[in-house]
Amino acid sequence: MNIVLMGLPGAGKGTQADKIVEKYDIPHISTGDMFRAAIKDGTELGLKAKSFMDQGALVPDEVTIGIVRERLSKADCEDGFLLDGFPRTVPQAEALESLLADIGKRIEHVVNIKVDQDELIARLTGRWICKVCGTAYHTVFNPPQVAGVCDKDGGELYQREDDKPDTVKNRLEVNMEQTQPLLDFYGSKGVLENINGQQDIQKVFADIDALLKGDRG
Ligand code: AMP
Repeated sequence: MNIVLMGLPGAGKGTQADKIVEKYDIPHISTGDMFRAAIKDGTELGLKAKSFMDQGALVPDEVTIGIVRERLSKADCEDGFLLDGFPRTVPQAEALESLLADIGKRIEHVVNIKVDQDELIARLTGRWICKVCGTAYHTVFNPPQVAGVCDKDGGELYQREDDKPDTVKNRLEVNMEQTQPLLDFYGSKGVLENINGQQDIQKVFADIDALLKGDRG
C-alpha cells in the first residue's frame, strides 16, 4: 500500500505513522527524520538542510525530491511505503507522481490529519524527544514517568530547535502557506482523505485504519 500521510507540524503524523507501518509492514519514510539523520552524521545533505531547518523553513524542493527518489528506489519499498512529511509542496507532489509513474506505481491514499492551529501551537511547544531512540513525549499530553528522561531507555530528552516557541509560529505559517495548494492539488484529484486529529490517539488510528481498509469514505 502506497500512502502519503499529511498534517501540519504537531498534528500527530509521526505517532500515527508508527502505528500504520507496524500494522501494514511497510517502511516509514520521513523526510524530516532523514534530514535530522544527515545533520547528525555531518553529511553534505545535512549541511544543506540545516540552515533551512533551523529557520523553520522548508528545504529546497530539488534537494528533498532527490533524497525521496533515492529512498523509494530501495527494495523495501517494493510492497508499499508510507511517506510522512513529503510531499509538502505542489512541485514535490508532481515530482512524486512522475517518479512513481516511471516505475509503474501510484499513491493509493493521501491521509490528512486535521488539527486546529491553537491546538497545534500548544502541542508543538510541549514536545520533547529522546536523544537516544527518538521517542516523542509531551509535557502535558504524554509526559514521561520522570521529567526529562525517556521511559524506554533512560535517554535524555531534548527540545528540537524547530519546536522552540520563537520558531513554532514561523514554522506553522510557512507550512500552512506551502501546503494549502498541496491540499487543493490532492483535493481536486479526489484522493484527499481527512481524519479528525483532535481525538484520542487510538481513535485517530482506528479512523485511519478503517479508511485504509476501505471501510469508510
Ligand atoms: P518534520 O520533522 O517533518 O517536521 O520536518 C522538519 C524539517 O525538515 C522541516 O521544518 C523542514 O525544514 C524539513 N523538511 C522535512 N520534510 C520536508 C519536505 N518535504 N520539504 C522541505 N523540507 C522538509
